[in-house]
Amino acid sequence: MADLIIMKMDATEKEIEKVVEKIEKMGFKAHVSKGAERTIIGIIGDTRGISDETFRILPGVSEVISILKEYKLSSRDFHPSDTIIDVNGVKIGEGYFVIMAGPCSIENKKQLYLTGKYVKEKGAKILRGAVFKPRTSPYSFLGLGPEGLKIVKEVKEELGIPVITEVLSPEEVEVVSEISDILQIGTRNMFNYRLLQRVGKINKPVLLKRNFSAKLSEFLNCAEYILKEGNNKVILCERGIRTFDSEFTRNTLDLSAIPILKKETHLPVIVDPSHGTGRRDIIIPMSKAAIAAGADGLLIEVHPKPEEALSDGFQSLTFKMFENLMEEITPFIKIMGKKM
Ligand code: PEP
Ligand code: MN
Repeated sequence: MADLIIMKMDATEKEIEKVVEKIEKMGFKAHVSKGAERTIIGIIGDTRGISDETFRILPGVSEVISILKEYKLSSRDFHPSDTIIDVNGVKIGEGYFVIMAGPCSIENKKQLYLTGKYVKEKGAKILRGAVFKPRTSPYSFLGLGPEGLKIVKEVKEELGIPVITEVLSPEEVEVVSEISDILQIGTRNMFNYRLLQRVGKINKPVLLKRNFSAKLSEFLNCAEYILKEGNNKVILCERGIRTFDSEFTRNTLDLSAIPILKKETHLPVIVDPSHGTGRRDIIIPMSKAAIAAGADGLLIEVHPKPEEALSDGFQSLTFKMFENLMEEITPFIKIMGKKM
């Protein structure tokens, strides 16, 4: 099995072209990544039938490697350098630290505007808020829907801050991507392959949340669905998984996922301690832990009056608590050598 062709340091452009030609002739796609020292060419497709020899004999080839994992484009073997995603000037990825904050659900314009203004002043770079809400009960508040998108547009323009909002179905991708700077795919939709394929076809960053019962390999395979369609702007988000104890926390925030994902993949890794814990009183320590574990950012729920929130009030921070969070985590981010 051949997946990666490592070219010699002195391989010529012609030799690289010949390898690409051969890959394409065999009916596969070639993914060329030119590093500072050498070029690595990946073969996209089902490579199980290709022998290493096919490529090892070509001039300029140094090594042929097979990747035993199912996910390729998302793996570090395939793409050793970190992916940095630029969202209207906000950098997301290794070396940077981004705070995305805002209400769980957008309830009205004033609520989003006030929250956005506040979190921006305190250092958040992206405003979050959902208009399409996937709720456990169909009788709960399901979001403002398309009406809410108008609010998102107005507030983002008035405040000059990029926004992230959730997309629930392939049919909504187009309208949401016209307004939202990042498309969020929630935990319940991580396995929605049609949705993953659809967002793979747009040129907008996608924040993919880990399903609450997904193994990390499943998570990476779902990211692969998006990358395979051509969209390489994928941000991973650890948001807690289900374990046996739901007495004290809503989910178990899997902190070990952070260094593992950073090792396995080149994609940015963001942590959502709001859904990960379900309780506002432990957001600060869990955020510090996430930073220490190597996270590239945080997704935090904030509400002007959490006790009146239409969703997730119990885990939303008040403005004052958000200010405290920012003060307390800043030194940790600096110690980790990340720019905010
Ligand atoms: C959210 O971020 O508001 C949300 C619904 O998250 P999750 O999909 O992780 O539950
Ligand atoms: Mn929420």
